[in-house]
Amino acid sequence: MALAYAPSIETTPVRIAPRYDHFIGGAWVPSSGGATFATVNPATEEELAQVAAGTAEDVGRAVAAAREAYEKHWRPMRPADRAKYVYRIARAITERSRELAVLETMDGGKPIKESRDFDVVQAAAHFFYYAGWSDKLRYALHGAGDPAPVGVVGSIIPWNFPLLMAAWKIAPAIACGNTIVLKPAETTPLTALLLAEICAEADLPPGVVNVVTGDGRTGAALVAHPDVNKIAFTGSTEVGKIIQKTVAGTRKRMTLELGGKAANIVFADAPLDQAVEGVVNGIYFNQGHVCCAGSRLLVQESVHDEVVEKLKARIETLRLGDPLDKNTDIGAINSSAQHAKIAELVESGVAEGAVLHQQSCALPERGWFHRASFFTGVSQSHRIAREEIFGPVLSIMTFRTADEAIEKANNTPYGLSAGVWTDKGAKSMYVAQRLQAGVVWCSTFNQFDPSSPFGGYRESGFGREGGVAGLRPYLTV
Ligand code: NAP
Ligand code: MG
Repeated sequence: MALAYAPSIETTPVRIAPRYDHFIGGAWVPSSGGATFATVNPATEEELAQVAAGTAEDVGRAVAAAREAYEKHWRPMRPADRAKYVYRIARAITERSRELAVLETMDGGKPIKESRDFDVVQAAAHFFYYAGWSDKLRYALHGAGDPAPVGVVGSIIPWNFPLLMAAWKIAPAIACGNTIVLKPAETTPLTALLLAEICAEADLPPGVVNVVTGDGRTGAALVAHPDVNKIAFTGSTEVGKIIQKTVAGTRKRMTLELGGKAANIVFADAPLDQAVEGVVNGIYFNQGHVCCAGSRLLVQESVHDEVVEKLKARIETLRLGDPLDKNTDIGAINSSAQHAKIAELVESGVAEGAVLHQQSCALPERGWFHRASFFTGVSQSHRIAREEIFGPVLSIMTFRTADEAIEKANNTPYGLSAGVWTDKGAKSMYVAQRLQAGVVWCSTFNQFDPSSPFGGYRESGFGREGGVAGLRPYLTV
C-alpha cells in the first residue's frame, strides 16, 4: 500500500529586498547606468528581486576598491590577523546557515536538503579550511620560502552551486592575502550578496571582497580589466575558451574550471544496490546541474538488464517538486533557458534512436521541472553521450572488459571526474589510474572535502581548487 505523502516545507523566514546594489569598497553601490535585472525563483517563476546590472564602469570601481584594499590593508596585515577575519566569515556562515540555505533554494531551485546539508556546510568548511592556512603559507609550497599574494583577483562563477562556488573562490584568495571582485551568475546572485553582507558584518576591511552583479558582459569586463592580476573562472568550456583568448598575451594568471561528461563505471562484481544509489546520486543530485555529474553510465554487459530494472524502480521513488519541501529529491531546473537546452538534448537522444525512460510523476503546474530520466541503447556517437546535458538525464552504455570501459570512459574531450564500482580493490586501482579525470571516486560519488583538490584535464580546464594545491594559483613564489 502506498503511504500518503505529507509535505514538510522549510519555513525559516528570509529577508529579500526588492532591489540589490553592488557591494563595492564595503558599501552598497547602484549600477552606474541605473539598470537592473530580475532574479526569479525557478520553482514558481516569480520575481524575487531586482539586481544591479554591472557596467564596465562598475567593474572599474570594484577593481579600484580591491586594489586600494590590497595595498593599504590586506597585504600589509599580519597573516594571523587576516586569518581571524576568514574564521569570522566561516562562523557567520554556520550561524546563518538556515537562512543561506533557504535563499539558495529559492533563487536557484535546488532541494532544501541539498542546500542545507551540502552547499552551506561545504561553503563554511572552505572558509574554515583556508583560514587555517593564512599564517602557514610558508609551508604550503615546499621549498618556496615565504610566498606572496598575487594581487587583485577577478572571479566569475556559475549558477549551479552559487554560494559554494563563491566560497571556493573567495576563501583561498583572501586567505593568501589577495583581494577579490566576484561576479555571480545572472540567475543566482542572492547568496553571493548575502555573503557580502556577512563579510561586512565580520568587519572585513572595505574592498577586500567586492561583488558586482550582472550578466556575461559584466564578466567579460572583469576579465578584460587591466588591473586584475588573476582570473578564476568556473563555467562552461565555451565561455572558458573566450576568456582564454582575452587573457592571452597579458600578464594575468588564470585558472579555468569547466564542463564535464563523467563516466560512472559499474562492474558486474559490484554490490549493485549500492552502485545504483551511487548512480542516482551521481546524476540526479542538484537536478544534474553538476560539472562532475556521472552523466555516462558504463555498465558491464552481464548486469546491464538488472541495473536498468533497479534504476527504473528507483527513479519512481524520487520525489520531484517544491524545492523548499524537505523531502524533495528533484527540485527545479535553474532557468527556462536551461530547461529548453535539456529538452532539446533529450529530443536528440530519441531522434538518434536511444530509448528514453523517465519517472512517471506529475510535474508542478508552475516552474521549470524535468523528470529524472535515463537513456538505454545509447551509442558513443549520440549527442547525449558526448555533450554536457547539465540536467537529470543519464546515458547508459555497456562494456565487456576493464580496458574497454577505460577506453570508452576516456573517449570524451572532457576530464573532470569519474566513478568506479567494483568489489575488487585491485580492479578499482587499475581502472582509476588509467582514467583521465581530475577526480576518480571508487565505490562512492560526489564526495567533497576542502582538503581535497578538484579540477580538470583537457577541456574541463586547468588549475586546482581545494587543498594545498588550491593555494598555488593565489600565491607568487
Ligand atoms: P557559463 O555560461 O559559462 O557562465 C559562467 C559565468 O560566466 C556566469 O557568471 C556568466 O554570466 C559568465 N559569463 C558568460 N559569458 C561570459 C564572458 N564572455 N566573459 C566572462 N564571463 C562570462 O556557464 P553556466 O551555464 O553558468 O554554468 C554551467 C557550466 O559551468 C557547465 O558547463 C558546468 O560544467 C560548469 N561548471 C564547472 C565547474 C567546475 O568546477 N569545473 C563547477 C560548476 C559548473 P551569466 O550568468 O550572465 O551567464
Ligand atoms: Mg534566480
